[in-house]
Amino acid sequence: MMSRATVLLKPNDRMPSRPRRGGGRFQREDRKRVAPTTPKKSARAEAPVKPTPGLPARSRRRGQMIHDTRSPHAPPPRVPPSAVHAASAGDGEDELHSSIVRVARMLWAVQEDRVRVSNQRWALEDDGYGPEWTGPLDLAVAALKSVEKKHGRALVALVKGHPLAPWIADVDGVALGGLGRLLGCTGSLDNFPNVDKLRAFLGYHVVNGRAPTRVKGQLANWSRQGRVVCRQLADSIVRLHHGVYYDLYVKRRAAVLGRPWLGPSGCPFRQVHTGFERRMDRSTGWKRKTGVSKLVPCITPCPGKGPDHEDCDPGAEHSGHVDADAKRVAIKMFLKDLWVAWRAVKAAAGQVSPGSPMLPSSEAT
Ligand SMILES: [Zn+2]
Ligand SMILES: [Zn+2]
Repeated sequence: MMSRATVLLKPNDRMPSRPRRGGGRFQREDRKRVAPTTPKKSARAEAPVKPTPGLPARSRRRGQMIHDTRSPHAPPPRVPPSAVHAASAGDGEDELHSSIVRVARMLWAVQEDRVRVSNQRWALEDDGYGPEWTGPLDLAVAALKSVEKKHGRALVALVKGHPLAPWIADVDGVALGGLGRLLGCTGSLDNFPNVDKLRAFLGYHVVNGRAPTRVKGQLANWSRQGRVVCRQLADSIVRLHHGVYYDLYVKRRAAVLGRPWLGPSGCPFRQVHTGFERRMDRSTGWKRKTGVSKLVPCITPCPGKGPDHEDCDPGAEHSGHVDADAKRVAIKMFLKDLWVAWRAVKAAAGQVSPGSPMLPSSEAT
């Protein structure tokens, strides 16, 4: 006679031989191995040159730069992050860089998801959906936020072991997390034979006299995420209100504002700025762009009130264009110093040949 308990247990007995949902790929790989008795950690210690999990093998083999073209939804690490960190400390630079790239990509993937779910939640509320709809999404946003924070902490923990960590400690406005995000885009700075290549990879080169833009159907040879990170670094440098790069920003800004304001927009760079007029859309309560294009001044006087202008000096002038230009100059100098610092680290370790270029090929901004 078969009891109820036996019947329930039967499918469970068969479970181990079946590939499980989600973890199937790794299980199947495990089964292929002849001697699966060696634990992962010791195998890692014995063979330090084996390919790093999580990075595409082909880009490692060609020794190319790591592009953003790969899906951010990379397979999860096969070992817990704490084990990755423990291993990366002694396993050399390559291992450390690929760990940084992997954790940074996971961070951005979760961040993207969090923003997407959060937008969805607010859209639902705007459309009149109640808490029974928005509540679960709130929970999802909170969960994603906590994972994002964990990735952020893991990234900082990794970068603490990076040779540039002591250098970045002296940079005002950029901390370990910022360096981690930057290295998460670039991988090892060995990928860049000179500063201009590093700047160009991060979108700070010039195409037809302007900053590069993404073109539909064309694969960009620069990293969009990299430029986003650089802009975030510039924002944090400026927000701090002191430091070498902040001084550079202030100097450049004042110099540009001191130039003659030219053209119909009064732009120091003689550009014509246009924008679309915005009018209130009564059905949504949002301001919407109208089809009417109008001329916009480059520089506007400070309105003197409002939450964004509490710290403004009297008679201050604001210009997004001039501000972005000054930040660009500051971050380009930061990238140069970063690259030079990396070369110095390599030279101290005796890994740079005397003939390799130490200085950027141009200082143009
Ligand atoms: Zn302008
Ligand atoms: Zn102001």
